[in-house]
Amino acid sequence: MSAPTATRTCATLTVDLAAIAENTRHFVRVGPPDVLAVVKADGFGHGLADVARTAVANGATWLGVTSITEGVAVRAAGLTEPVLSWLNPVDVDVATAVRHRIDLAVPSTRHLAAIAGAGGRVRVHLQLDTGLARDGAAPDEWPDLMAAARQAELAGQVEVVGIMGHLAMSAYPGHSADEHGKQALLRGVAMAERAGLRPSLRHLAATAATLTDPGAHLDMVRIGAGLVGIDPSGSTRLRRALRLTAPVAQVRRVGAGVGVGYGHTSVTGRPTTLALLPLGYADGLPRAASGRAQVLVAGRRCPVVGVISMDQTVVDVGDLPVEPGDEAVVFGPGGQPAVDEPTVEEWAVWAGTIPHEIVTGIGHRVRRSVR
Ligand SMILES: *Cc1c(COP(=O)(O)O)cnc(C)c1O
Repeated sequence: MSAPTATRTCATLTVDLAAIAENTRHFVRVGPPDVLAVVKADGFGHGLADVARTAVANGATWLGVTSITEGVAVRAAGLTEPVLSWLNPVDVDVATAVRHRIDLAVPSTRHLAAIAGAGGRVRVHLQLDTGLARDGAAPDEWPDLMAAARQAELAGQVEVVGIMGHLAMSAYPGHSADEHGKQALLRGVAMAERAGLRPSLRHLAATAATLTDPGAHLDMVRIGAGLVGIDPSGSTRLRRALRLTAPVAQVRRVGAGVGVGYGHTSVTGRPTTLALLPLGYADGLPRAASGRAQVLVAGRRCPVVGVISMDQTVVDVGDLPVEPGDEAVVFGPGGQPAVDEPTVEEWAVWAGTIPHEIVTGIGHRVRRSVR
C-alpha cells in the first residue's frame, strides 16, 4: 500500500475513532444512565468534533467542555446533545451560552449573580469544591450559593438542573480524601434540597472513579481521558487511539566520539547511523524526554540521542538500513506483541509527566489524519 505523499513528507497524527467508540461503549456499559463525554482541549488532542460525534454515536448522552468557545465548537459540529461548560470568568458570555443551549457550571455566588442578571432562564449546575481547592465553591460558601440559586430560580433567572463535584485522588482507589469528597457532594445535595432546589443530575466521577468506584457514579459520570484510552487508575485495559509517525528527513553515518545536538549531551560511542526526524518540542515531543526516549525505526526500538530541539530529533539507528523517507513511529497504540512501538504512557514516563500532557500537547504543524 503506498501512502499519500503528505504522510511521507511530514509528521502525522492518526486518530483511531474505532478505539474511541469502543472505550465509550465500555463507560456506557459500566456507568450510570448518563455519560458525559469531556471533549475539552480539542477532545484531549484527538479532535473535539470527532471525539464528540463518536462518543454520542456510541451512547454518551451529554458533552462537557471548559469554555463557552469550546461549547460553541460542539454546536458547530452539529451535535444537539446537552452541553455543560464548567470553567468561566464571572463575566461569562451568558447570551452566547443560552443561544447555543450550553449549561453553565456555577462555582460562586458572584458567578451566580452575573448569570442571573444576564436575562433569560439559564440552565446551571452548582459546582462544589469537593476536595481540590481549585474550581467550585468552597464549603463555607455553599449555604449562600444555595439560597441565592433558589432565589434566582424563583425569579425565573436560572434553572438548577445539576450539582457537581470533582475528586482529587481517584488515581489512588480507596483514598480517604475521595470518601470525604463523596460525602461532601452528598452533603451539598442535601443542603440544596433543604434550600428548595431539585437538581436532577448529581455528578462527581471522572474516568478513574467511574472505573473503580460505582458508589461515585450517582446520576452521571464525566469521562475524558478514558474515551481516548487513558486510565489514570490503571485498573482497566482501554484502547489507545493515537499514532504519531514521522518520516526520516536525513541520515548520516558518523564515527565514534561525535557530539550530537545542542550542548553535545550525547557523544557517539562507536561508528553508527544517525537518523533525523523533522519534529521536536514545538510539535509536542517533550524536551524532558531527551536521553531516555525511544522511537521505532525499521521495526526496531532506537534511542533518541542529544536533546530534543524545537523542530528536530536525532535517533541513533546503529547499523540498521535506514533511508530518508522511512517512517519512524514515535508512539502508537501498542498491544501487538510483534510491533514494539512506544506508547504515550512510555513517553509520559520518559518526560516525567502523565499521558494527558503528551496527547494534549501535539503541535499544530503535525498533520491530522482520522480513520
Ligand atoms: C477534565 C475533567 C473531567 C474529565 O476527567 P478525566 O479524568 O479525564 O476523565 C471531568 N470533570 C471535570 C470537571 C474536568 O475538568
